[in-house]
Amino acid sequence: MTTPDTPPIGFDQLGLIPPLLKALADVGYETPSPIQAACIPPLLAGHDILGEAQTGTGKTAAFALPLLQKINVAVAKPQALILTPTRELAIQVAEALQKYAHHLPGFHVLPVYGGQSMVVQLRQLSRGAHVIVGTPGRVMDHLERKSLVLDKLTMLVLDEADEMLRMGFIDDVEWILEHVPATRQTALFSATMPDQIRRVAHKYLREPKEIKIRSATSTVSAISQAYCQTHSGPQKLEALTRILEVEDDFDAAIIFVRTKTATVELAEKLEARGYSVAALNGDMTQGLREQVIERLKSGSLDIVVATDVAARGIDVPRVSHVINYDIPYDTEAYVHRIGRTGRAGRTGRAILFIAPREMRMLKTIERATRQKIEPLSMPSADAVADRRVAQFTNQIIEARNEQKLDFFFEMVRKIEETHSLSAREVAAALAFLATRERPLQIDPATVMPTPTFSERPERTERPVRSERFERSERPERAERGERSERPPRENRDDILAKRRTFADGKLARYRIEVGRKLGVLPKEIVGAIANEGGIEGKHIGQINLFDDYSTVELPADLPADLMDVLQRIRVRQVPLKTRVVAPGELPEEPRRRPPQKKEWSDKKPGGFKKPEWKKRES
Ligand code: AMP
Repeated sequence: MTTPDTPPIGFDQLGLIPPLLKALADVGYETPSPIQAACIPPLLAGHDILGEAQTGTGKTAAFALPLLQKINVAVAKPQALILTPTRELAIQVAEALQKYAHHLPGFHVLPVYGGQSMVVQLRQLSRGAHVIVGTPGRVMDHLERKSLVLDKLTMLVLDEADEMLRMGFIDDVEWILEHVPATRQTALFSATMPDQIRRVAHKYLREPKEIKIRSATSTVSAISQAYCQTHSGPQKLEALTRILEVEDDFDAAIIFVRTKTATVELAEKLEARGYSVAALNGDMTQGLREQVIERLKSGSLDIVVATDVAARGIDVPRVSHVINYDIPYDTEAYVHRIGRTGRAGRTGRAILFIAPREMRMLKTIERATRQKIEPLSMPSADAVADRRVAQFTNQIIEARNEQKLDFFFEMVRKIEETHSLSAREVAAALAFLATRERPLQIDPATVMPTPTFSERPERTERPVRSERFERSERPERAERGERSERPPRENRDDILAKRRTFADGKLARYRIEVGRKLGVLPKEIVGAIANEGGIEGKHIGQINLFDDYSTVELPADLPADLMDVLQRIRVRQVPLKTRVVAPGELPEEPRRRPPQKKEWSDKKPGGFKKPEWKKRES
């Protein structure tokens, strides 16, 4: 068994081709994660892999990069198949592939999953794709219909195999494994290795290299640890800033993120909110990095947003908090990160931001550190206001005790007398003026709803195989696929609680006040409207980006309460202020390009054409 260490090697030492290295530089990855360092070379060398790794370890890139390297773009047939348990994961993996293939012109990936129109999928499949990412039920359907032919398949990946087992897909997976060329290379990833997965691996993998992320145990007793469950996006930033405000004994913090780009982006956002903060990443010269650390030591900076590599070995005793804004790849990295606090005999505090999908990682970390990580919810607006009032009160008391106030006593006395006001009225007006720039209360109009995740989503058991349809009952299988391939369990209740349904009727064009100049992406708009507004993706139509605003198609006649929400939702910190576009108010929508056959064969140099599924599904 191979156990990946964390040697500071670069992606360029793993045997990857320049277009992939370029894409990795574009997305700002600094070094390979342990699972990537361990998997990429053997996968490139053609070995099968049995990888024990969970979400958050970087496993997608671990299989995606070698897979892309092996694709022959000139052959317009599926050469790789990735099976995932849910449609969300299928889309996510397809997006990751597209990101890493940015400099491989003509490359096409297609996600296929239940719940999406068969007609659309058949059309997309007929155009050809180099990689198919799909859920087992739907992939099987296409194989049976022969709308998906895998005779040129050279690589198969089973992602989150234990989830597929838990969801009752394992028979379908085995059926697929038996209906693809035996000569293929196979990689199986699973967060755990139950016997049934081992059996499948033993039966269908050829002398696989076993790769497991080591989870060494370490003691971190001087550090109190907490986690806050949140999705990425504006809500996460809101949670971070609120937590920074209400944490006791805050002196200085190191905030860990995964990419160089993220260090700069997050530092800028925090700076805009009034923090003295700097980024620290591997792109900076040694001299610059030392300067940042010196400023953190001396107190001229309170927050450093860093990548793991850049923060290696930082020893600054005043660091009271370590914030894992992006989850580390493994427990070793976690222990190393949080060890930046609690130094020189002081106590420290570590806070981990975690997405519902990554909750398994939390258990692994608790096991490895032999310590409980306490849940922490995003502080309410009232809690933040209380803290600000307490700080303001301290300033008032300090000023009263330490300053000579005779001039001001006299001034207030005169105001009381001349305007028949009480001292309390004068004081309230002065407090308002003094805090106008930084109000004590969070403006409710700018606040996003507090996320309402259950504290620790426990997994409820799925129906066992016998309760489900047997293969002979195939007519219902497509429908069954739809039922199985639903949002991940962790946030499903959350979404259902808020989800709105509309008759499949008329769409209207709405204007939103975020546009190209903000660098906004259609998927951010869809994400915000779907998650915050509870409007299902299928009710969100065409999005057109203009410089200062965008338009989005949504059901006509949205109810007032929903319009109210849509006006306040923020994308890139800017409220959408959604409103219906009046006839003739805006330029006509650009005409939709009629679908072209053989889209895959477009080899415009460097041309990166958005496939049709991305336009609607992102
Ligand atoms: P995964 O475990 O594949 O779901 O990846 C989790 C997250 O880590 C994704 O947001 C990736 O973009 C990010 N990621 C993966 N590999 C790296 C890397 N080498 N450096 C920085 N971020 C990474």
